[in-house]
Amino acid sequence: MSTDPPVPQDGRRAALSATLDECLRDGAHRIAAGRGGEAGEALFEARLLAGHVTGLSTAGLMMRGADAIDAPTRQRLTALFDRRAAGEPVAYLIGERGFWKHRFRCRPGVLIPRPDTETLVEWALGCIPADASDFRVLDLGTGSGVIALSLAAERPDALVYAVDRSSDALQLARENMLLLAEQGASAHVALWRGDWLSAVAPASVDLLVSNPPYLAGDDVHLDLGDVRHEPRTALVAGADGLADYRRLLESTLVVLRPGGRVLFEHGYEQAPAVARLMRQAGLTGIETRADLADHPRVTMGVKPA
Ligand code: GLN
Repeated sequence: MSTDPPVPQDGRRAALSATLDECLRDGAHRIAAGRGGEAGEALFEARLLAGHVTGLSTAGLMMRGADAIDAPTRQRLTALFDRRAAGEPVAYLIGERGFWKHRFRCRPGVLIPRPDTETLVEWALGCIPADASDFRVLDLGTGSGVIALSLAAERPDALVYAVDRSSDALQLARENMLLLAEQGASAHVALWRGDWLSAVAPASVDLLVSNPPYLAGDDVHLDLGDVRHEPRTALVAGADGLADYRRLLESTLVVLRPGGRVLFEHGYEQAPAVARLMRQAGLTGIETRADLADHPRVTMGVKPA
């Protein structure tokens, strides 16, 4: 006869006394199984979700790994792990994402900030002169506001404006301005609602920046990963993905001051097409830079002086 303790009692005890580490391992397993992802990445995501629920930092999660966690917390965590396993973006589940030097609020209906876009921020910062007292920067399609707010936080002496046609996006950008203040950054951006450059005065901008929608309507990426949960209007630009660059470049030369610059983020295969459209629009000095993954990601043009 077996001397093992009865199974139900044992199972009950295990459920009651799960540690944080056990819960994280279970989460990583669920996420990797659901998404077919890599184990290390799944554990990283499980930690982000657990940090959100428990309020612990990554270091705190490691130090407290042997702590028992209560049943309601475990249930909340399991629910988040399962939503992640089913494909919901981590940024939407925890409501936030780090970009450049700050944390930004995220929610469905507005694009999740990407590290690729930091290439544009870095380049834009290099375009702002030492004396920026009368220097005007305009971010078109600001979304969560990450570009405009990062620039404004770095250069409080420049005048930074941001436009979006979505009032949900503008509301989120406004919340992010307050969230930056809570993080000790003073980022003042004038936000307004509009359709690209339609309300912008002629010869009023020194630096135009944008990460516009640039996927073609039938791009395979639309069916993969986080993108499935993000707004199509922030992602898709006509049949070839270039429709919004064409729209923007119709008025770019009008709104830029002489010598002013435009910086566009684009898809990794779009640099030649964007450069050609810029040239056709009358811009000069066209250059492209690559992102951290070495993909051509941002192209710049100058309005002749
Ligand atoms: N400017 C925002 C970003 O870079 C939103 C861009 C968009 O919605 N296409 O994340």
